[in-house]
Amino acid sequence: MLHSKPREDNYLQKGLRKQLVQSLREKGIKDERVLAAMEAIPRHFFLDPAFERQAYEDRAFPITAKQTISMPYTVASQTHLLALKKYDKVLEIGTGSGYQACVIAEMGVSLFTIERQKELYDYVEKFFFLKKYANIRRFFGDGFEGLPSFAPFDKILITCGAPFIPPKLLAQLKPGGIMVIPVGEDEKQKMLRITKDMEGNITEEEMGDFSFVPMLQGKNNKNSGPL
Ligand code: SAH
Repeated sequence: MLHSKPREDNYLQKGLRKQLVQSLREKGIKDERVLAAMEAIPRHFFLDPAFERQAYEDRAFPITAKQTISMPYTVASQTHLLALKKYDKVLEIGTGSGYQACVIAEMGVSLFTIERQKELYDYVEKFFFLKKYANIRRFFGDGFEGLPSFAPFDKILITCGAPFIPPKLLAQLKPGGIMVIPVGEDEKQKMLRITKDMEGNITEEEMGDFSFVPMLQGKNNKNSGPL
């Protein structure tokens, strides 16, 4: 469970984190700003203590409400594809554990993040580590709707498998902006990088195969029970 009190981040965990970052480099992640942010964030804080020892393996893990924290390689790839710049306003769909949100916030940009599972939204509320980042604003809502009152966004990141490119999100992307979105069903998605030019023309590039939990329509107020 995510903790309301600080947990320990000792030399062992810091060492494992360095090794994880090195392994991501070897898997082709070259963006040192992303790697530095990932080295700064104790991923084990975001996991149930039962998985704490494996927190620095390149694996996804269950969090609450039958959701998962993405694999470090996936987090690094998506963050890199966003090509973040200082003063960017970024929208993330799928707060989940809040890990990816912290990686992005650690890079100094302003982050808005939406989660559709009330249980998960409330759960992250109590998590001390997120309070470190005044540049994260969290919302309970349906990511298909985006956040019209805060749009447009320089960058939009979808961290769940989308059945199609949500038109409202595309409309909330600034000219010159980038959207990173895994599209496809049954936990098999193609990562797309979508660029909108100054005239509003859209370009799509395929950036490899990934696996995500599905992007679902509507909010869910129900408690889905333990892991
Ligand atoms: N970024 C997260 C990954 C979580 S998994 C992390 O770092 O931990 C994807 C998340 O997307 C899940 O929490 C799921 O509930 C959420 N999700 C799925 N469909 C959504 C939607 N329409 N709007 C907002 N969140 C959604």
